[in-house]
Amino acid sequence: MGVLVLNASMEPLHTVSVPHAVRMLVRRVAEIHEADTGAKFGHYPLPRVVRLVRYVVMKWRYSRPPRWSRRGVLQRDHHRCAYCGRPADTVDHVLPLSRGGARTSWLNTVACCARCNAAKGSRLLDEAGLRLLVTPHAPSWFELQA
Ligand SMILES: [Zn+2]
Repeated sequence: MGVLVLNASMEPLHTVSVPHAVRMLVRRVAEIHEADTGAKFGHYPLPRVVRLVRYVVMKWRYSRPPRWSRRGVLQRDHHRCAYCGRPADTVDHVLPLSRGGARTSWLNTVACCARCNAAKGSRLLDEAGLRLLVTPHAPSWFELQA
């Protein structure tokens, strides 16, 4: 299992091995952000997340939003239906695909419960009498981490 490395600004950068993370602690380039208190690696509590002491300029791929995925939409919306707030396990296209909505856009997809999804069908929000409780957005890497 890898150790997540956060930038000094708390943005996730990448994961490294436990020995690598401990070397970063020894060299004082990183500090422990979260550790497994029940376990040790040498003198250190077993790190789960470490944070860089100094800010490093993010490489381009980390400054871009994560790629769209169904799972990512559910995670971003905390598995809550965007229309009624109940537990959700489906993804709804706000502007339906049949009306030209984008299939894999963070901005056109929300977590949705089966009931609201069936009620909405391929209608627009106004037509279905539904309102969004959240504003769809491209998630940060951090939002999709947990
Ligand atoms: Zn719902």
